[in-house]
Amino acid sequence: MRELIMVRYGEIYLKGLNRPYFMRALVSRVKEAVKPFGGNVWLHDARVFISDMKDRQGCLERVCKVFGVHSACPAVEMEKDDFEAICREASRMMADVNGTFKVEARRSDKRYFLDSPEINRRLGEYVLTENEDHLSVDVHHPEHILSVEIRDKAYLYCRVYPAVGGMPVGTGGKAALLLSGGIDSPVAGYMIAKRGVQLTAVHYHSFPYTSEQAKQKVLDLAKILSEYCCGLKVYVVPFTEIQMQIHEKCPEEYTTLIMRRYMMRIAERIARKEGALALVTGESVGQVASQTMEALQTTDEVAHMPVFRPLIGFDKIDIIEYAKKIGTYETSSLPYEDCCTVFTPRHPATKPKMAKILEGESKLDQEQLIETAVENAEIVEV
Ligand code: ATP
Ligand code: MG
Repeated sequence: MRELIMVRYGEIYLKGLNRPYFMRALVSRVKEAVKPFGGNVWLHDARVFISDMKDRQGCLERVCKVFGVHSACPAVEMEKDDFEAICREASRMMADVNGTFKVEARRSDKRYFLDSPEINRRLGEYVLTENEDHLSVDVHHPEHILSVEIRDKAYLYCRVYPAVGGMPVGTGGKAALLLSGGIDSPVAGYMIAKRGVQLTAVHYHSFPYTSEQAKQKVLDLAKILSEYCCGLKVYVVPFTEIQMQIHEKCPEEYTTLIMRRYMMRIAERIARKEGALALVTGESVGQVASQTMEALQTTDEVAHMPVFRPLIGFDKIDIIEYAKKIGTYETSSLPYEDCCTVFTPRHPATKPKMAKILEGESKLDQEQLIETAVENAEIVEV
């Protein structure tokens, strides 16, 4: 008999011929995630198992954050021939559980000497007799389900922990996330990573107008995201020179939009370097002047790869809820300034004219500005 963690996958289940590819990726991601806990990870019979880990509860919580995992449960693996022993172990497992329960047997070994209804009946009766003072049976709406799976071995468990779902990171290609210190972009990154996309983050920093603390806040956010994203490389791009030149040479009401167009161009340059095929932002229609339909069109236009905006139809209140759930809200709410809040125009254009933007941009040495910014980016692996 041994204690282990049994991991179930979610959407991979829908895959056809390429399911093994997704399964291998899932096993790799689980292995990386639980490395600090030691132990063995292996794939068997459409489940991922983890054994011999230290701190089973900590390991369980960690594995529930791996994209591609649907749920995980602490389980006991036993030889299946000794049904008496299975009953005793099940009874021990239910000793600290109160309320109503039922047994749910699944028998993939069809030659097993008891069929599922018979296992349910015998095991239920045994557990009830041993724990009568705190358990009763309710087969329709039980508070607890005692599961027993008869495979090549028998597996027993009574607590299932829901996990994050999604697809294993790395199976959905790569994208570059424009990561600010705000609430939205970490959530946007999380959503895309959850679909199996490996992210590289790009952050624009306007030192000394934005502080060291503002940069550290973004790296802290990246650190939180990295738990889900299997590590995260962050390009911290110096943006002061570009912002100063835009401020000096371009019409005031267009400075924000031109700045955002530069953000897109630079992010795309970095994306190509990293083999990424899309950009991700935390924009949502109508949130601020640079996110009206017209403004979004002007920033979209400079990118030659798809720009994913997973929050496009989300209300701020819903984004905040999401941020709390994934653990980024508190850090995002720290007060440090973002480069977007430096040199903000008094009246940003909400219905921008393309000709005005182009005229403003013609006064800038675009290629040189972009190249210098990318060259001088600081790369931080979190
Ligand atoms: P958040 O910053 O959380 O996204 P916000 O409402 O402050 O929310 P904006 O400042 O308008 O959003 O920025 C829109 C998007 O532009 C951000 O979601 C992010 O993807 C990108 N962005 C803004 N500032 C930066 C920055 N300093 N570095 C990288 N990307 C940025
Ligand atoms: Mg922001």
